[in-house]
This record gives sequence, C-alpha cells and structure tokens, in this order.
Amino acid sequence: MRELYFDYAATTKVKKEVLEEMLPYFMEYYGNPSSIYSLSRKVKTAIDSSKNNIAKMINSKRSEICFTSGGTEADNWAIKGVAFANKEKGKHIITTEIEHAAILSSCKYLQSLGFRVTYLQVDKYGFINLDQLRKAIDGETILVSIMWGNNEIGTVQNIKSIGEICKENNVYFHTDAVQALGQIPIDVEKMNIDLLSISAHKIYGPKGTGALYIKKGVKIHNLIHGGEQERGRRSGTENVPGIVGFGKAAELAYDNFQDERSKLIYFRDKIIEELLKIDKTKINGAIGANRLPNNINVGFEGVSSEQLLIVLDSMGIFASAGSACSAGAIEESHVLKAIGLSLDGAKNSIRFTIGYTINNDIIEEFVAKIRIAVSNIRAMMDE
Ligand SMILES: *Cc1c(COP(=O)(O)O)cnc(C)c1O
Repeated sequence: MRELYFDYAATTKVKKEVLEEMLPYFMEYYGNPSSIYSLSRKVKTAIDSSKNNIAKMINSKRSEICFTSGGTEADNWAIKGVAFANKEKGKHIITTEIEHAAILSSCKYLQSLGFRVTYLQVDKYGFINLDQLRKAIDGETILVSIMWGNNEIGTVQNIKSIGEICKENNVYFHTDAVQALGQIPIDVEKMNIDLLSISAHKIYGPKGTGALYIKKGVKIHNLIHGGEQERGRRSGTENVPGIVGFGKAAELAYDNFQDERSKLIYFRDKIIEELLKIDKTKINGAIGANRLPNNINVGFEGVSSEQLLIVLDSMGIFASAGSACSAGAIEESHVLKAIGLSLDGAKNSIRFTIGYTINNDIIEEFVAKIRIAVSNIRAMMDE
C-alpha cells in the first residue's frame, strides 16, 4: 500500500539534498564552532552561511538571526524575553485566541507572574479585527504577538497592517511564522516585524532546529545562559548538523519558492473542490488568497474525525485532527472553537496538509479513499 502523507503542517520529510549537506558535520567537520583552531573554521563558516540563507529568505541581516532548538523555543524566547526586558515600560501583552500552544502557554505563564494578556478574538474565518487590535493597545502594552499563518485552519493574517499598527503605537511586534516560511513571501523590513519565529522541520529540514529573528535594537532578555554562543544571546554548543540542514532547506525553499507555492495552491484548491463534492462537507477557515497554500481543513457532518483518522490510517493516509497532541489523544481544538464551531462541528473536522511532492495521481487515490471512508463511517452510524 502506498503511503499517502497529508500531514505536512505537523512535520515534513527531510529533502535528500538537505541530509547530504548535513552528513559531513557529524564525523568530518566535528569541531566545536567556538574553538579557534583550523578544524573549527569550516564549522563556523557553515553556521554563518546557514544564517545568510535564512536571513535572505526573510530579508533580515545575518546578525539578526539566532538559532534555537525549534519554533517552540523561538516563541518562548520572544514572549518571555521581551516581557522580562520591558516590564518597566508596561506589563501588557496582546495575542490571539488561535495561537500555537508555544505562544499561549508562554502567555499563561507570564500571567502567573503578574503580566496582563489580551487574547484577541477572530471571526468565523479566523481573522483578527484590526480595529480591535488598535483598541486593545494601551499605555502599558509592550508586545503584540500574532501568528502569520494558522497551523490548523490555514488563515493568513494581514501582517503588513498589523506591523503598521504596532509601529505607530511604538510596541514590539512578534509573529510566529513557522507555517508561513516557504509558503508566504516574508519581508521583515517592509512588514515592520521586530521578532519572528521559524522552524526547520516544517520546510523539509531536520527536527529540533529553529530560529528567532530579533531586529537590531529590540530589548530582549536571554533565556538560556551559559557559554555565550550566538553573540551572547543563546548559550549552548550549536546543533551544527541541524543548523546546516536548516540552511540548506532555506536555500532550496528560496530557490523553488514560486514553483512550490503555485503548485501547492493549485492542488489545495483542487482537493477542496473534490472534497466539497462529498455530501454534507464544509471547509473551515479562509477561502482563497488568505489561506496557507498547503492547508485543507474540512468537516464531514456525522463523521467523527477520531474515527476517520483510524480508518484512513488503515488505508495508508496520514492526517491530523485539531493539533498534534503530545499524548496522542485528540483534544477539542481551541482554534475551531474560536472560529465558532460547535463541539460536534469541531469533532467532525479533519486537517489535510500537502507538500511539494503532491501530484494528480496522489490526489485521485486520496479523494477516492476519503469518499469510501466517509461513506463507510456514515453507513455504520446509520445502522
Ligand atoms: C510546528 C509549529 C511550532 C513549533 O515548532 P517546533 O519546531 O515543532 O517546536 C510553532 N508554531 C507553529 C505555528 C507551528 O506550526
């Protein structure tokens, strides 16, 4: 049975070129990048060149990129680091109801330390309201953190306008761009972004490597203290193979950006069109241009996604409901709840996310199998 992987928002398979680039950094170029002998020179250069590739992708300077252990650490650092460094100015943070758990949990933690957090609501497509954002900013606001593309429903916020509002009001703007990277054009200069989180394993790089872009001059505390790597900002010997892989993945994503993006958009819309032909099916999230190119989120009335996932798994299709939960259990999605879905609506919703290897053949088999699975489950429920 052919493997039909439809969970690219959860993680991606490392590209062959990425792995090949990484391999020499395990046994050949193994020197500690902080050492000053010649064995380490190549390692140091590789880290810089990886940073260059990433900086190019988001239009930042190389010195504004700091490597982390992933998107989660980058999010934690942005939220807590800015909060701790700017608490004299104010203790108010604005975010949204549909953020990744890394943001929401960091905010909850800050609340336990006496910070005030506003969670902006979203409309039925998942968009925040810019006027509500303007109104939420007060004299004590230090940071606005709003994700670029939502990992569950694919909604892409109006980042440029949010950046303008933050700049006008002199508050820092952080965005979780983990899903946006490689799918949406990113320009931190044009969009007035002060901090931005990204992760390698969502763009065909290795797991456990990410980065935080910190605009020059942003006041932020460090979270990881020690040996002063990353120009004193994030200590710990660098994950060299991971960083090299991230750099290669970034280079490939940059070089193939338009091709991969248009391909994803074409196939995303085709899948949506085909799935909507199934009786009593609904799309969750935004339609068209303001949706992540790789994201499809649908509700099949009367079909529990938990059950559907099991049936699909037995057919070789790997997908997701809600967000991946570390316990393996499916929890009610806070995002589907925020866009106003009933408990049943949320329980019947499933997410399919696609990658660059998608083609007509795969889609045909995929849609046929979905049809069978959905009608089998519905028939069973009717008995
Ligand atoms: C995957 C993801 C993260 C977490 O990144 P990791 O590298 O897995 O820690 C954060 N935010 C969003 C939107 C994500 O999709």
